[in-house]
Amino acid sequence: MATAEKRFKHFAIVGAGIAGITCARTLTQAGHTVTVFEKTLGLGGRMATRSTPYGSFDNGTQYFTVRDPRFALAIETVPGLCKPWSANAVRVLDAHGRVTEAPLPAREAHWVPAPGMNELVRQWARPLVAAGQVILKTRVARIEPDALNAKRWQLHTEAPGDVRHVYGGFDGVILALPAPQSLELLQTSGLSPKGMAKLAAVDIAPCWTLMLAYPNASQPGLTTLGPQWNAARSTHHRIAWLARESSKPGREPVERWTVQASAAWSREHVQDEPTRVEAKLIKAFSEVTGIRATPAHTAVHRWRYAQTRKPLGQTHLWDAKAGIGACGDWCIGHRVEDGFVSGLELALAAG
Ligand SMILES: Cc1cc2nc3c(=O)[nH]c(=O)nc-3n(C[C@H](O)[C@H](O)[C@H](O)COP(=O)(O)OP(=O)(O)OC[C@H]3O[C@@H](n4cnc5c(N)ncnc54)[C@H](O)[C@@H]3O)c2cc1C
Repeated sequence: MATAEKRFKHFAIVGAGIAGITCARTLTQAGHTVTVFEKTLGLGGRMATRSTPYGSFDNGTQYFTVRDPRFALAIETVPGLCKPWSANAVRVLDAHGRVTEAPLPAREAHWVPAPGMNELVRQWARPLVAAGQVILKTRVARIEPDALNAKRWQLHTEAPGDVRHVYGGFDGVILALPAPQSLELLQTSGLSPKGMAKLAAVDIAPCWTLMLAYPNASQPGLTTLGPQWNAARSTHHRIAWLARESSKPGREPVERWTVQASAAWSREHVQDEPTRVEAKLIKAFSEVTGIRATPAHTAVHRWRYAQTRKPLGQTHLWDAKAGIGACGDWCIGHRVEDGFVSGLELALAAG
């Protein structure tokens, strides 16, 4: 008996973080066509790297763990790119910056790609970029039935300079965005695909991130500034995490620190002026580390949706009839690997 011939489809994927790019490469490997839309000028989403004259900062994800064998296999497709970081010896600090626990023995490696956190997604996306299937600096503003074929979808996009465009002919649309942004896009579009009401129950906390550079600390005879540890979780009411960027593999040697505010403090100050937030976080940084030198470079970044507090509880959402799905770390957790698993599972369901 002849088997039914598989129909290859064209998917629009909104968002080029790890979930979106994992979904895109999996669908491509299965023979489908994808077009990825990303509103920023780079790939990686919250696996972000910011360049400065003093070296780069991983201002989003700090490191990732590899527990799912499928993630381990995917990492092996870019041999040598990701290296274990000595942050295995993460310290735990009290509110005054005193170490309260000896470093725990490494239970699992903390992986970091070089030269920056965004490099893993960039490498995976290379074939898609080369084929012109990734459209950067393009925000998807609305989704609606295709004007030429109501069984398909078209996307209204906005790019800098008020450039608007309509891309059509998609058999399916995959939202690889934080849950509130997926919900907002569906609501703006007047769409309510099956199961997507669950998006409203997901809770994702914001995170203010501070970046500091001390180039003078790299002079001969003075290799590091302040504490001897490279990464710590803190119970200070403003600060939850501190990491010495320069201690990560494949980074520039200039002394640089990335500091993440606690979820509670970030929520409380989410609408504050960046200059005000910066001043408060620098003060807290000094209290925790004892570093009082004036940094040559300071910056803050606000992640409106950073860490999942209440996940969806299933790997993805997919309305097969409508041809609309949603994925992202928030489906099952708050880690990079959760984004990978979610993007992969949605591709397997949709393809
Ligand atoms: C400060 C911080 C620290 C973290 N630390 C860690 C850590 O140490 N370890 C760990 O495992 N995880 C960490 N995480 C979480 C990790 O970053 C996420 O789990 C993972 O990156 C989520 O990937 P994603 O693809 O689901 O979403 P995202 O990376 O958020 O990707 C969504 C993409 O969609 C784009 N987009 C949004 N709206 C539109 C639109 N309308 N049109 C087009 N594009 C759009 C965004 O620009 C973004 O690129 C951290 C996150 C933050 C913010």
